[in-house]
Amino acid sequence: MPLSALPPPNRLALLLDFDGTLVELAPTPDSVVIPPGLGDLLARLSRRLDGALALVSGRPLADLDRFLPAIPVALAGEHGGVFRLSPESEASRPDLPSVPPAWRREAERLVEAHPGALFEPKARGFVVHYRAIPEAGEALRAPLAALVAKDAARFMLLPSHMAWEIRPRGADKGSAVRHLLAQPPFLRRIPVFVGDDVTDEDGMRAAREAGGEGLFVADRFGDPAGVRDWLATLAA
Ligand SMILES: [Mg+2]
Repeated sequence: MPLSALPPPNRLALLLDFDGTLVELAPTPDSVVIPPGLGDLLARLSRRLDGALALVSGRPLADLDRFLPAIPVALAGEHGGVFRLSPESEASRPDLPSVPPAWRREAERLVEAHPGALFEPKARGFVVHYRAIPEAGEALRAPLAALVAKDAARFMLLPSHMAWEIRPRGADKGSAVRHLLAQPPFLRRIPVFVGDDVTDEDGMRAAREAGGEGLFVADRFGDPAGVRDWLATLAA
């Protein structure tokens, strides 16, 4: 579907990934640079869509709040592990298991043994980043896969951009999209999900199943700057 054929703002629900979609990827999760005016752009866009705008990210809400303080936009964090419909409302969490503390300790030991790797804790799981040492990707994957194999019914190992993530099953960007679409102001709107990564494919699939569309950044916009330009035209 060409961008020009997407639903008009009064029928559209827009679901946006954050890293690699709204902002350029950075060497570490903390070093992303927020382009000037991004918060204002999202606020304008949210008004244009009558509030039917959400960020759907793997990050915890605290990260999104730090990068984009008090934006009037719905947030789904931790791949659908936590939701907050507005800055004023309470965060809600679907009931999901957390990784055993021993797994975290083992992953931290693993990261210490591979200088350049980075351990990022999350509420119910964690991420091991290897962007600084790409050659160690496979050496890091095997022991993490062995951890998940101990309880594969409840947890999964997920590849991402130069990172491995262990997280509970039962939440992904697809479940996040379905959860948002079930309530106002998203209800009965046509969802369009924009993302750049493997984990975004669940969100794109859920959007298509709901009669909408999923857009890959590289295919449709080139890069996050292209996404921001498109959002600016939508918000105008
Ligand atoms: Mg991304």
